[in-house]
Amino acid sequence: MDVVVIGAGLSGLTAAAVLHEAGASVQVLEADCRIGGRIRALRDPTSNRAVADLGPTWVWPKYQPVAARWLEKLGAATFEQFNEGDAVLVGFGPAPRRQPLSGQDGMVRIVGGPTALIDTLARRIGAANIRTSAPVTQVSDDGPKGIAVHLSSGEIITAQKVIISVPLRVAATTMHLPWAAPTLIETMRGMPTWMSSHAKAVALYDRPFWRDAGLSGRIASRIGPLTEVHDHTGADNTPAALFGFVGWSAEQRRLDPEGLKRAILDQLSDCFGKAAGHPLELKVEDWAMNPRIVTDLDTSQPAAHPDVGPASLRHPYLDGRVRFAVSEASERSPGLIEGALAIGERAALELLETNP
Ligand SMILES: Cc1cc2nc3c(=O)[nH]c(=O)nc-3n(C[C@H](O)[C@H](O)[C@H](O)COP(=O)(O)OP(=O)(O)OC[C@H]3O[C@@H](n4cnc5c(N)ncnc54)[C@H](O)[C@@H]3O)c2cc1C
Repeated sequence: MDVVVIGAGLSGLTAAAVLHEAGASVQVLEADCRIGGRIRALRDPTSNRAVADLGPTWVWPKYQPVAARWLEKLGAATFEQFNEGDAVLVGFGPAPRRQPLSGQDGMVRIVGGPTALIDTLARRIGAANIRTSAPVTQVSDDGPKGIAVHLSSGEIITAQKVIISVPLRVAATTMHLPWAAPTLIETMRGMPTWMSSHAKAVALYDRPFWRDAGLSGRIASRIGPLTEVHDHTGADNTPAALFGFVGWSAEQRRLDPEGLKRAILDQLSDCFGKAAGHPLELKVEDWAMNPRIVTDLDTSQPAAHPDVGPASLRHPYLDGRVRFAVSEASERSPGLIEGALAIGERAALELLETNP
């Protein structure tokens, strides 16, 4: 095996696709039973079509050249975030009020959602080169044989080179990296995993009825349980959907998931009328319950967008044979889709330049 990529999120799959395209033999090892990492969709149970994003939604190709290039390379189209009409503002005065809220310049959605990128990358890499339910526990130098990648099953895979595409805090706390100096492990522990302590709620409807009332589908709320809500209707207007970020703490969510759902439905119906309280489906994806993504460090500290991390996260290790490639390690837009694409591509190209 030329290269093992650990983690099948966007960074790992981007790295694997670049390596595969360059003719390297690549094996992606993913701990979860599915690929995509923080990119996940609610899917139609019959067609398996992605109908709503449970992880990221937006890209800013106007300001993100790497994302713009990869969207084109992967044949992914974008469309405007719907924002016509009034938002509902709650908790900013004695009573809720309606007013337009401007959107962010350059912010767009991907047709089919970011999972379209994951699906296309996985097709290009080839199913046979991606293993799921394969958690890695250790990456160590095996001398002239190469790098030994230990799986939790006890299996050991030897590779010439390895890319670690796992959230840095997760890698620092769950993987044994005997070659990593304590200062490197400390740096990794200091890098928050963007959005890992958050939960996202998606409600599906048969039509976007809020638009008929001149509402944009946006809520900005200081009371919650959703702090902000956006229209999440598909590019072809199906399905009609709203999504929101949950303001309850991870602990509150864990203690009362059903109470959270009831509170979300009450909030939606207060803001958009009774019909909003009766969606076809309400799904809450709680990322703080996913130990492959989140650590106690993320839930015990206020959520912070990662700053650009130290250069040591982009250094080669073990004579250039091991590199990190996860969004938070990127010099460009760390924590974002742009960062994942940039670091995945960079790590693969730099690894290809290193002689075994
Ligand atoms: C709710 C939410 C909303 C977001 N919104 C946006 C947005 O609108 N725009 C934007 O640009 N970004 C957004 N983001 C961030 C974006 O999702 C991430 O930047 C991107 O998906 C990170 O990809 P990654 O591959 O670097 O990491 P990840 O997606 O975290 O992938 C890491 C992978 O490593 C795997 N793994 C962990 N441990 C092991 C192990 N021991 N062995 C093998 N595999 C392991 C994990 O299961 C996972 O698949 C959002 C994220 C969330 C959660």
